[in-house]
Amino acid sequence: MNSTSITYASPADGTLLPVAESFYSIQGEGANTGKAAWFVRLGGCNVRCPWCDSPSTWDAGRHPLRSISSIVSEIAASPAVNVVITGGEPLIHPLGPLCAELRRKGYNIFLETSGTSPLSGEFDWICVSPKKHRPPLHGVLAAADELKVVIGDIEDLPWAESVRKSVGEQCVLLLQPEWGKRQSASEVIIGYVKEHPEWRVSLQTHKYLDIP
Ligand code: SF4
Repeated sequence: MNSTSITYASPADGTLLPVAESFYSIQGEGANTGKAAWFVRLGGCNVRCPWCDSPSTWDAGRHPLRSISSIVSEIAASPAVNVVITGGEPLIHPLGPLCAELRRKGYNIFLETSGTSPLSGEFDWICVSPKKHRPPLHGVLAAADELKVVIGDIEDLPWAESVRKSVGEQCVLLLQPEWGKRQSASEVIIGYVKEHPEWRVSLQTHKYLDIP
């Protein structure tokens, strides 16, 4: 994209989206760990987690608006079959137009969301990673294929269980150590999953592999 095509105005109907990053890599965490995927990281987040590893995405206005065709044609130039829409918090934007075009091209569409804004768009896999300081909407939790709760310490476990009550029976339940506390949080999670085997451990393998 050359500098003359960059626009910083606010998106309105989802036909233009602020893209913080767009790249091909390996899904490093959650139920789809290990799958090659194209990542569309949208700018803008109203959740502001203290442990966020991508705070540069928070301000949507810092990221250029791109058309759906620009986003999808870049993906089409790669061998990708899976597309992860992430952020930031992607659901603060209307995702219908992007999902419709990805669907038309036959991609598997995965969503990574905190669940704090209403769903838009259609997905093959919805991962909700809820945040204690900004609880998710019941409707988004009910649609989740995967519940991925970041655990910093033992006090986070009762909250994980309370959120779990709003997901469906088939939802994959994952506990993931907060990266900055991974040593102690992993010990907490391992003990808990052994006692509560309906949960699984999720690790941020992309960080161990040092890939984006
Ligand atoms: Fe960062 Fe995601 Fe939290 Fe937003 S919801 S602050 S992008 S971890």
